[in-house]
Amino acid sequence: MKYGGNTSCVELVLGDRIIILDAGTGVRMLGNCLLNREIKNYLFLQSHTHWDHINGFPFFAPVYCEDVNIEIRAGHLSTCGGIKKVLSSQMCQPTFPVPFEELSANINFHDFVAGECFSLGDGIEVKTAPLVHPDGGTGYRIEYDGVSVCYVTDTEHTPGTLDQNILDLIKDADLVIYDCTYTDEEYPKFVGWGHSTWQEGIRLCRAAGAKRLAIFHHDPSHDDVFMDQIATEAAREWSGAFVAREGTGIELSNEAAQPMSNLKAAVC
Ligand SMILES: [Zn+2]
Ligand SMILES: [Zn+2]
Repeated sequence: MKYGGNTSCVELVLGDRIIILDAGTGVRMLGNCLLNREIKNYLFLQSHTHWDHINGFPFFAPVYCEDVNIEIRAGHLSTCGGIKKVLSSQMCQPTFPVPFEELSANINFHDFVAGECFSLGDGIEVKTAPLVHPDGGTGYRIEYDGVSVCYVTDTEHTPGTLDQNILDLIKDADLVIYDCTYTDEEYPKFVGWGHSTWQEGIRLCRAAGAKRLAIFHHDPSHDDVFMDQIATEAAREWSGAFVAREGTGIELSNEAAQPMSNLKAAVC
């Protein structure tokens, strides 16, 4: 209730450009918000396509608007059918009444291989890295106006070894949003499930010189009391760590991430 029950969806606002990181259930409310703001062009960067990262897409209201342009990129499907096939396969009867072909928005798809870098124009640069997750996954680093934000979920670590791909991706980043599904204490029960811990997030950020860690992708069995405890322990362990909460807005400038006291309330 306090930290949010929707699944993965993060909005990045870079000047006039909007990037949406994953289409989990949180994208439903974001879609309504974007329409209210009269924004009509968006780019989705998908970490991967497990249900909790795509289930909101059929409920993203802009897909039913003719004057909307959407581009969707993914880095884990170029050898197995592509992102269009996966997204459209969740929108067919009898599991969903509106076929993908009937969506009104102009939707373009782009598959790449995790590890590639690309420019998005307007000074936006994207670096990517493969993640350790069942069915694959892609971590992103988005750079704009001297600020860097990394989105690294879902991924599993190997205890005692820092993932070099992630270290390279998040080097000196202003903000790292990291898969902290479990705690180090819980992790041994979930080896092979494809997720990491908040403690590993701190170890990675410290080693890479990153400035802030957003503890992200909460285990749904963790209630508010448990999440409060993680917030306290993580802040004690490293002052750069905080627990992500649904609706939180964070303003980053090229001077450094703003301190928590300056976090802006969400606009949606
Ligand atoms: Zn997953
Ligand atoms: Zn997930």
